[in-house]
Amino acid sequence: SKTIMWFRKDLRLDDNTAFNKMLEDSHDTEELICLFQLNPLQFLEDSYNHDAFFYTLSTFYEHAKTNNIELHFLYGNVEEKFAELKNAFQDWNTVYFNKDERGFGRERDQIMTTFFEKNQIQVCSFQDSHIHGVEEIKKPTGESYKVFTPYFRKWLTMPKRMYQRTTKNDRSFKKLKHPLFDEGKKHFNQIVEKIELPFDYECGEVAAEAYLKEFIKSHLHNYQKGRDYPFSNQTSKLSRFLRTGELSIRKVWYALNAEPDSDGRQTFISELCWRDFYNMIYFENPKQKTQEIKEKYRQLQWSYNRESFERWKEGKTGFPIVDAGMRQLNQTGWMHNRLRMIVASFLTKDLMIDWRMGEEYFQQKLIDYDAASNIGGWQWAASTGTDAVPYFRIFNPTTQSEKFDPHGEFIRQFIPELKDVPNKYIHEPSKMPAELQNAINVSMGEDYPDPIVDHSKIRSEILAFFKTASS
Ligand code: FAD
Repeated sequence: SKTIMWFRKDLRLDDNTAFNKMLEDSHDTEELICLFQLNPLQFLEDSYNHDAFFYTLSTFYEHAKTNNIELHFLYGNVEEKFAELKNAFQDWNTVYFNKDERGFGRERDQIMTTFFEKNQIQVCSFQDSHIHGVEEIKKPTGESYKVFTPYFRKWLTMPKRMYQRTTKNDRSFKKLKHPLFDEGKKHFNQIVEKIELPFDYECGEVAAEAYLKEFIKSHLHNYQKGRDYPFSNQTSKLSRFLRTGELSIRKVWYALNAEPDSDGRQTFISELCWRDFYNMIYFENPKQKTQEIKEKYRQLQWSYNRESFERWKEGKTGFPIVDAGMRQLNQTGWMHNRLRMIVASFLTKDLMIDWRMGEEYFQQKLIDYDAASNIGGWQWAASTGTDAVPYFRIFNPTTQSEKFDPHGEFIRQFIPELKDVPNKYIHEPSKMPAELQNAINVSMGEDYPDPIVDHSKIRSEILAFFKTASS
């Protein structure tokens, strides 16, 4: 008989729940097949998000090969292709996979579970991607939490699954010849050939582990202080490894447990909890990619001003900290969390542009794109999500800049036009006197744009904007 391990956002061999279970459960006579299904509906072509994912997938393919595991590919409509596969392999009777608990993947898993059951294929599926799955943390009444803090309190009290190193398996995962797999491999090769990432992109299980170790050694215990300063680069950069599953979340938890306690460690744990929280929120609000979670804000009249949106995208708003953040995203496919909050607040509160446009732009550009965290972050910034703080939380880009990039180091790194601007004006370069501009050979309004809005007037405008929807 044949058993299939269906890989998706769990691109690792170590501590992979479904893969481990399959190795544990299978008999010597069973033929084990590893598979990845390429679904064109899921692709967001011409995006860093897409290219980074497929680069990771190709790295995983090679990594599996060096472990004598052949990864097979299916290409096309998921139900049709699995039906063809079942026709080709009548003795295929079990499938293992790690569940996607929300969004597109959840719908696919529901459809496919019905399909497998109808076709007498036993389904063995597991929660693997998060410390706690979407239905594990509930109020005593059985309801789900709506705000983070009580969720976090409960989350901390719940027992955690431990990391389980995959011991070397001696099972053979031979290459199976079949036209369906040839077709899949052809498409996979074509996708990989077109990958164009304009920056270095390290990936794979080995790199993920190295990032984890380095972060714990150098930054964990100072994380509470260091994490807010983009220039100091003290966050873990683990998000992209977590979104592809190259890194087991239990391995992260295990590594944290081996460390003495500190404010940094506690704060880092709370960030991992945010990841679980937003996963749960997406499960509870399946329409949240297009619809505001807070019902009363579904009628807000957002702006769709293309010119302002383009300036925001390109990092040309005239607010250096916003522009540096956007340029970091455009140049590296990643943006520091503090900057994500600042640029998202700027788009939604200063420009009053629909948060969905920002969310989509991040979806294209982020190498760590995760729908639950991204939508959660955007709805938080737009004040339409789960946040308990009301809509009048408006980030002032200038004071944020003074606080989190006090000497303008980060700004100068990403905005070379401003490299000679003295600290006194780095946060508001349009205020530089003309003589100084001449002296450093830079002309505000020409070399670097004047501010796109007058932030001092925003507060009253945004209050009026939200009030109309609340009344
Ligand atoms: P660290 O500070 O080292 O945090 C460790 C891990 O905790 C992260 O890797 C991540 O898995 C998790 N985490 C940290 N902060 C958050 C958070 N606020 N929400 C959920 N999980 C968190 N994160 C993504 O992984 N993908 C996204 O698409 C994404 N989009 C965002 C959009 C907006 C508007 C905002 C405000 C935040 C978004 N985040 C997203 C959350 C956060 O910015 C990133 O997780 C973080 O910057 C990743 O860098 P890091 O791994 O160095 O983080």
